[in-house]
Amino acid sequence: MKALVYQGPGRKSWLEVPDPVIQQPTDVIVKIETTTICGTDLHILKGDVPAVSDGRILGHEGVGTITEVGSAVSSLKVGDRVILSCISACGHCDFCKQGVYSHCLGEEGAPGIGWIFGHLIDGTQAEYIRVPYAETSVYPLPAGVTPQQATMLSDILPTGHEIGVRYGRVKAGDVVAVIGAGPVGLAAIATAGLYGPSRIIAVDIDPNRVAEAAKFGATEGVLATDPDWKEQIFALTDGLGVDVAIEAVGIPRTFTTALDIVRPAGHVANVGVHGKSVDLPLQDLWISNINISMGLVNTDTLGTLLKLVAQNKINVDAFISHTFALGDILDAYDVFSNAAETRALKVILTA
Ligand code: NAD
Ligand code: ZN
Repeated sequence: MKALVYQGPGRKSWLEVPDPVIQQPTDVIVKIETTTICGTDLHILKGDVPAVSDGRILGHEGVGTITEVGSAVSSLKVGDRVILSCISACGHCDFCKQGVYSHCLGEEGAPGIGWIFGHLIDGTQAEYIRVPYAETSVYPLPAGVTPQQATMLSDILPTGHEIGVRYGRVKAGDVVAVIGAGPVGLAAIATAGLYGPSRIIAVDIDPNRVAEAAKFGATEGVLATDPDWKEQIFALTDGLGVDVAIEAVGIPRTFTTALDIVRPAGHVANVGVHGKSVDLPLQDLWISNINISMGLVNTDTLGTLLKLVAQNKINVDAFISHTFALGDILDAYDVFSNAAETRALKVILTA
């Protein structure tokens, strides 16, 4: 088969590689129909994720058709179309039993980390993939949802929803600000709307992304490059700050932005993946009763979000900015990695 293979920092190729085979009785093999590229893949290619070794097939999002099942798999069969979660869950360990699939203790990849596709085992940017713990990690694709739409459920929608909106405790009437309107921030904006906030403010440095956010339910946009960005945000509240500030960038400056705009007793939900420590002024925050949360997505709400997508309650089509044939994945990487010029959000690859 052909696959997108990581060959060390800065190097990747679309190569002929051996077909995956069943290794454990709980595995299935899936023929990929649709996959996509994530900002995390760009981090890996920069060399920021050293656990990814040379020769690894990248990708952790996708939809496909089962072509082979392991001997212990009874609830899935050849021909089933399934949505792959970016998190693989054994379903039996202490963390899986709590729904904390992100820390699955199963032996695949490494015990204690649920994100293994395109990281610790081969991923979805390929013609075929071996899927471990299949019965507890994949979701049947329902009629009426396209594989392109469902690919948005592998990672970005659960991430924005679980780590942004649910950890941030968004509730009816809240003023919510989402800092960073990339695919993940936009997913937080789209799913915050499910809880009835009075306002959702998109904050970004890219005017195109601020404008784009309206399609996902943002009621206002603020350019973080405006000198009076903070005053603009406070003017959209009762003057006391936002109820929930969701950080979806992953740099110290935007974490500080979230702390700067949250009201007393409000919530800061950090979604961004940070590469260095941030300044945490606890001496000021404690007396303001600020709640701070963070985490790796569990995809425990994937099934719920799938029902909402099937009922057209979430505008998933708006995430898809470009489509390519799977064999043209190197062109897709070029477009995706130049988002400021190409206006790329999610690029869909179809086999
Ligand atoms: P992205 O790079 O596409 O989007 C980031 C956005 O932030 C861009 O639109 C950019 O213009 C904007 N931005 C940059 N600097 C800014 C600033 N100073 N002020 C305001 N906006 C600024 O990334 P993405 O794919 O949307 O992912 C967002 C973050 O979520 C990343 O850090 C990613 O690694 C992380 N992530 C976390 C999880 C998790 O489980 N917690 C899962 C997936 C992704
Ligand atoms: Zn587990």
